[in-house]
Amino acid sequence: MTPNAGMDDIVPDEQLRPASLDEFIGHASLRENLKVYLQSAKERGQALDHVLFYGNPGLGKTTLAKIMAGELGVNMVSTSGPVLERGGDLAAILSCLSRNDILFIDEIHRMPVVVEEILYPALEDFNLDLVVGQGPGARTMKIAVEPFTLVGATTRIGLLSSPLRDRFGVILHLDFYKPEELARIVKRTARILGVSITEAGALEIGRRSRGTPRIANRYLRRVRDFSMVSGAAGIDREDANNALERMNVDESGLDQMDRKLLSILIEQYGGGPAGLKTLAVACSEDVRTIEDIYEPYLVQSGFLKHTRRGRVATAKAYKHMKMLG
Ligand code: ADP
Repeated sequence: MTPNAGMDDIVPDEQLRPASLDEFIGHASLRENLKVYLQSAKERGQALDHVLFYGNPGLGKTTLAKIMAGELGVNMVSTSGPVLERGGDLAAILSCLSRNDILFIDEIHRMPVVVEEILYPALEDFNLDLVVGQGPGARTMKIAVEPFTLVGATTRIGLLSSPLRDRFGVILHLDFYKPEELARIVKRTARILGVSITEAGALEIGRRSRGTPRIANRYLRRVRDFSMVSGAAGIDREDANNALERMNVDESGLDQMDRKLLSILIEQYGGGPAGLKTLAVACSEDVRTIEDIYEPYLVQSGFLKHTRRGRVATAKAYKHMKMLG
């Protein structure tokens, strides 16, 4: 692949993020509901209820949190579950928030329990219960923090403890995007990057981007590299198809790792059931990467099934891998 061939690589990914709910493509009913909640909070002059976004990586959770801060005219402070190791880390952040700010915690399911416990009173009545001193002399001190909105993002809602989940007033699910929606995202990004692309070219990239805007944007940049180096003036369907094939992204949008996973499941485990850990070891991949990145799309697009006894390849997977089921 030609690395970073175009001038437009100086456009950082950050600039591709939609800045308002009207610019955010897809998820119409989620957008409309969020608009109502934002307007109501603005009219009341109060912090919006705590919001949890869940869905796969790259579907727009961080983008929506930033849009919310922009629409409310407040600051957003970002952190993530694994970064918050001790209660003090979170207390320091909370005590610096201004009125109605947004605190964005990515991968909130990876926040340690000790940090969660500091968060609860802050979420409920904007207080921090800090323990000062040690042993018998230790006492609890209450410190007020400014009202704020917690926006949590997670790829794994099932891993959130139920007390934490219950403290979110709004829980919104981001599902995979339709190819037509991704085509609109590709066209929008192409406009920002100054790349010319046909409708069919955008749809081809959209169709093969695993339902995920971040992947669609990445493929667009790479397809642009190929067509630029080949001297084409813009991107059409054939350019998109040729470039994606060279990148080993097949007709169904599966990449090398997806196919490796399916072929191991079929060839070594007779199509399953096989346990997640076994599969991860056989693929030389991390369990979390398989679970968060590969599996959801394979399940959603009907190549893989979850059963109580493990992962099973479907007839569609056999057909796709051109093996007999
Ligand atoms: P997440 O936080 O869920 O991992 P992000 O919010 O970082 O995902 O989104 C990844 C990228 O995809 C962003 O940089 C943004 O440009 C693009 N994107 C996501 N959702 C949309 C959307 N609905 N419309 C346009 N672009 C989007």
